[in-house]
Amino acid sequence: MIPKNNVNPDCLNNRDELHESCGVFGIYSNDDIDAVRLTYYGLYALQHRGQQSCGIAVSQDGHITGHKGIGLVPEVFTEKVLDRLEGRITVGHTRYSTTGGASMEDCQPLIIRYKEGQLAIAHNGNLINASKIRLDFENRGAIFQTSTDSEVIANLISRFGLKYKNFEEVLIETTKNLLGSYAVVIMTKKKLAGIRDPWGLRPLSIGKIDNSYILTSETCALDTIGAEFVRDVEPGEIVIIEEGILKSIKTNQKKPHSLCIFEHIYFARPDSFIDGASIYQSRLEAGKLLAIQHPVEADLVAGVPDSGITAAIGFARQSKIPYGEVLIKNRYVGRTFIQPNQKIREESINIKLNTLKKEVEGKRIVIIDDSIVRGTTTKKIVRMLKEAGAKEVHVRISSPPVKFPCYFGIDIATKEYLIAANNSVEEIKEIIGADSIGFLSVENLLKCPIGAPKDSFCTACLTGKYPMKVPSGLDETLEDK
Ligand code: SF4
Repeated sequence: MIPKNNVNPDCLNNRDELHESCGVFGIYSNDDIDAVRLTYYGLYALQHRGQQSCGIAVSQDGHITGHKGIGLVPEVFTEKVLDRLEGRITVGHTRYSTTGGASMEDCQPLIIRYKEGQLAIAHNGNLINASKIRLDFENRGAIFQTSTDSEVIANLISRFGLKYKNFEEVLIETTKNLLGSYAVVIMTKKKLAGIRDPWGLRPLSIGKIDNSYILTSETCALDTIGAEFVRDVEPGEIVIIEEGILKSIKTNQKKPHSLCIFEHIYFARPDSFIDGASIYQSRLEAGKLLAIQHPVEADLVAGVPDSGITAAIGFARQSKIPYGEVLIKNRYVGRTFIQPNQKIREESINIKLNTLKKEVEGKRIVIIDDSIVRGTTTKKIVRMLKEAGAKEVHVRISSPPVKFPCYFGIDIATKEYLIAANNSVEEIKEIIGADSIGFLSVENLLKCPIGAPKDSFCTACLTGKYPMKVPSGLDETLEDK
């Protein structure tokens, strides 16, 4: 069931990291390309956005079919499964659930049947009015098969499908009813559509291979399949590809552009570009500005793998302190968030990370990470470095303190569990046992996405300034941007 305040109850557990929402992908093929396999490789490139489940839907002989399952892309899609799927139009999804659970029924794309036929939908984001819409539907006798807010979108499409003949009008009316973040890829038997919410909270890009169109959460998936980048879908824009032609509909709902700043800090792959800005350059810049803002005398700069590496390189370049590795990550260990409880999770970090003792011994180390949520992981890393013989450990974080929850699809713990919501910077330093600590300021952070439109970011979990009013009961401190 969708939780009352639309925040995953799992947020109340002991997770220490920020977590992705989902990756969406779609192909409308006008050429002789293997759309299904390209979707598979596209999802592979978007795996970092969600590792709980994945799926591909395909329009095949006038019928939409698909395959989905719990697990990583190569686990769910075998050669045999891919051979079974065939078609010119596809929709794909990698999922990390922020509403609903990790059950089979909640895997996407959702395939539904409505008056006009079949439809497949893949959604990245979180609707803050999903519970209300769902209740409205249920009061009229509708039955929901999943606990996801994505099914709410599907039901709205179905409802407006009764009123409007034109698919374009159906989508426009649907988006008028949605509040929150959404990058959605929708497929009918003959059309592929992409929708980005009026704030542009989640990314969505358009690419092309010859005459075929691709929609993707991130541009790294375009590079992976040899497609060229065309442009980003604009906030509040709907694109519909039909009979080989891409049509753009600019809804008049556009709001102040508010891309989630954590796409730049953490979520997106460094080789992606969002709204004109390189994620890699952005992280390098964050490291550089962090070195200027919080200088320190030290012997070595290192990043927490993998999330802190790029900022650490930026810090080292600016500070002229040599860059090196001090932590080695075991890439074959599942991410810490899949562990069921804090005790096991704390233990798992030893499995996941190990120190390079010879590099650390007797040195003053600057260790860079992208963010601190609960502080548990950082505390453990400081302890590991000290146990390995570090003379001093200076923690530098390439983002500001996370003080407020996110309602737009990113799994950030409630305030109660956020170390920075309950402690001063000095207190955080004491808790994690570092010799010094420094966070990048909001002002400096916003300088990092070079090339992105000015003032075009959501920073709500850092500042408490949410880009939209949310229904009462979510958070008393919410205010308009
Ligand atoms: S609240 Fe934070 S994590 Fe959520 S969308 Fe805004 S910037 Fe991103």
